Amino acid sequence: MERVADGVWLLQGDLRNSMNIYFIEDGDGVVQFDAGSKAMAKKARATGEELGGVSRVVLGHAHPDHRGTAPSIGAPVYCHPDEVEEAESDASLWPYLDLSMLPAPARWIFPTLLRRWDGGATKIAGTIAEGNEVAGFRVLHFPGHAPGQIGLWRESDRVALVSDVVYLLDSARLGKPLPAGEASVPHPAWSWDHAKAKESVRKLAALEPKVVAAGHEEPLRGENLRETLERAAEKY
Ligand SMILES: [Zn+2]
Repeated sequence: MERVADGVWLLQGDLRNSMNIYFIEDGDGVVQFDAGSKAMAKKARATGEELGGVSRVVLGHAHPDHRGTAPSIGAPVYCHPDEVEEAESDASLWPYLDLSMLPAPARWIFPTLLRRWDGGATKIAGTIAEGNEVAGFRVLHFPGHAPGQIGLWRESDRVALVSDVVYLLDSARLGKPLPAGEASVPHPAWSWDHAKAKESVRKLAALEPKVVAAGHEEPLRGENLRETLERAAEKY
């Protein structure tokens, strides 16, 4: 487990340790933000218990590698209203994703990987949207990669937990990490609406974050990540 910021912990696992689950201290326990892949379930449960117990799971979005542990944590699961249908469905590959746009072999391998990462249908206990508060963070809506993609923002130390608003790995290949200090808007194959995905990366840039902790790979850090993120919005 790695300390990302005051009261924020990161658990990494699965494929090259590139899948991220965050735990945010909240009262006597923690809120779990994102749920990684199914293979991380045992480690996620142990981590949540070690930190005082998970009061609720908040999904950044409902893709298989972000809802994987959600059904097995034993806490109520929340997401944005626009993610409820996908979260509660059995489908591992949601129809708006067009993986045929990816180069080979990624376009052939990802469907299998998505099924393997998936923890399956997840009952949603309630919804959260922009303006709500989660464990001292403000919820922001970043639609594009998924319609109900959300992030968590804490102004006091400029920390953003952003799920897949940006990738710190190469989303057109099999998840090779990007060079240190680089970020990217998701490849269009991974977008519900690519134009909105680019806008959302710019919205994140305008916050001038110092820490961008994403759904995959190590958090990005800098005094002001605005320029890095503005460049990231233009990658695809
Ligand atoms: Zn995703």
